[in-house]
Amino acid sequence: MNKHILIVGGGYVGLYTALRLQRKLRGELRSGEARITIIDPQSYMTYQPFLPEAAAGNLSPRHMVAPLRRILPKVRILNGRVTRVNHAERLVTFQPAVGEPRQVAYDVIVMAAGSISRTLPIPGLTDIGIGFKTVGEAIALRNRVLHLLDVAESTDDLEARRRALTFVVVGAGFAGVEALAELEDMAKDSTRYYRNIEPSDIRWVLVEATDRVLPEVGPEMGKWTLEQLRERGIDVKLDTRLESCEDGHVVLSDGSKFDADTLVWTAGVKPSPVVNDSDLPIDERGRVKATAMLTVAGTPGAFTAGDAAGVPDVTNPGQYCAPNAQHAVRQAKVLADNIVRHLQGQELVEYRHKYVGSVAGLGLHQGVANVYGVKLRGFPAWFMHRTYHLSRVPTLNRKVRVVVDWTLALFFKRETISLGEMEHPREGFRAAVATTRR
Ligand SMILES: Cc1cc2nc3c(=O)[nH]c(=O)nc-3n(C[C@H](O)[C@H](O)[C@H](O)COP(=O)(O)OP(=O)(O)OC[C@H]3O[C@@H](n4cnc5c(N)ncnc54)[C@H](O)[C@@H]3O)c2cc1C
Repeated sequence: MNKHILIVGGGYVGLYTALRLQRKLRGELRSGEARITIIDPQSYMTYQPFLPEAAAGNLSPRHMVAPLRRILPKVRILNGRVTRVNHAERLVTFQPAVGEPRQVAYDVIVMAAGSISRTLPIPGLTDIGIGFKTVGEAIALRNRVLHLLDVAESTDDLEARRRALTFVVVGAGFAGVEALAELEDMAKDSTRYYRNIEPSDIRWVLVEATDRVLPEVGPEMGKWTLEQLRERGIDVKLDTRLESCEDGHVVLSDGSKFDADTLVWTAGVKPSPVVNDSDLPIDERGRVKATAMLTVAGTPGAFTAGDAAGVPDVTNPGQYCAPNAQHAVRQAKVLADNIVRHLQGQELVEYRHKYVGSVAGLGLHQGVANVYGVKLRGFPAWFMHRTYHLSRVPTLNRKVRVVVDWTLALFFKRETISLGEMEHPREGFRAAVATTRR
């Protein structure tokens, strides 16, 4: 038959779908009856729930990503972007990292391009805001927080110091609360090495447009998290929106105005833009229109899942599956099995999973959890958060590396140096060249 299965995106859905297909179609891949390709700008899958721990320095960034080529030896990995999907012709336009775009033909497509930050046209946001979805963003943020502590320690300008020590996070879901809690914990921990900075000198502001934080753990645990954050001195502003942040001058809808050098935007996600550059049907929220079988509605040979897809939640009629890893991993399994069934002309099965709740880390030894109705807080929740994610991070190799990182952090204090110059590696050399006389 020689069927080419093309997976757009090598994240949660892409990696787990390919892993399962690699196993289930072993014979076909060997005989050349089937081929699998993943296209992704990165050569690794990012385990996003570990981003906050990587930002806080408890985990090496290399250990929270899974290398696609090593894990998927039977799959061809192409690095670059899909810029257009023409499903009518079974062709995608592939823009490689270097060189001209080219067309790649396929028989079956899996749209698994995930999501990007959902932003609003707020004055100044593009200039000073940073998201929290990639390893690059998490590590840049870590370097920035530590660098600004250095700045604050070294300046005599009180206004510059106040601005450097003010950190704003917009959006109090998973990403925002965990990022803020881990970074605050790290910054507080780091102040012991600074003569002139006390933990109380650092201001953390969490801005949330609704009246609750961390909805993923339910109202009771969300309320507890809110109290915890406030007890830690974090200024949580509910029912408040960011109105502008031009040149770092932050204006909020509750009337407060202050200056900040750092603003992290984690107020939701929207499907990857490639979804719009395709002839696949889109739903009212801009996601690929999916069926409960994880096929693209009314479109033979096309499958989808994860953050890019609007998958009906059959356990909750009328609702859609939330964009989270809990669904993405389980959907990938059903999706891969359905591709095999599709190739063998069998009937497809529905994706069915009832959301079981969530765990969240709130800094070292602190957490909150609500899983299968079991509500935990503090150390037990933090322990559950770590064990759960350890069990979920792909491959034994990564699991061992993560445990080693955590064990080291247990015995030695975490690293609190900013390696921000890694973002500008040629600056020193350029300065040296500039001193050379002709
Ligand atoms: C900080 C943070 C913490 C989180 N914590 C949790 C948690 O604790 N529990 C939980 O359940 N969920 C959590 N999530 C959500 C979870 O990570 C996502 O729901 C999950 O990653 C979605 O999987 P996906 O495969 O749809 O997308 P992704 O994993 O994002 O993968 C999408 C892939 O598509 C690629 N791509 C995008 N556009 C293109 C293109 N044009 N061409 C080719 N490739 C493309 C991207 O590079 C990426 O590799 C968290 C998210 C964040 C940001």
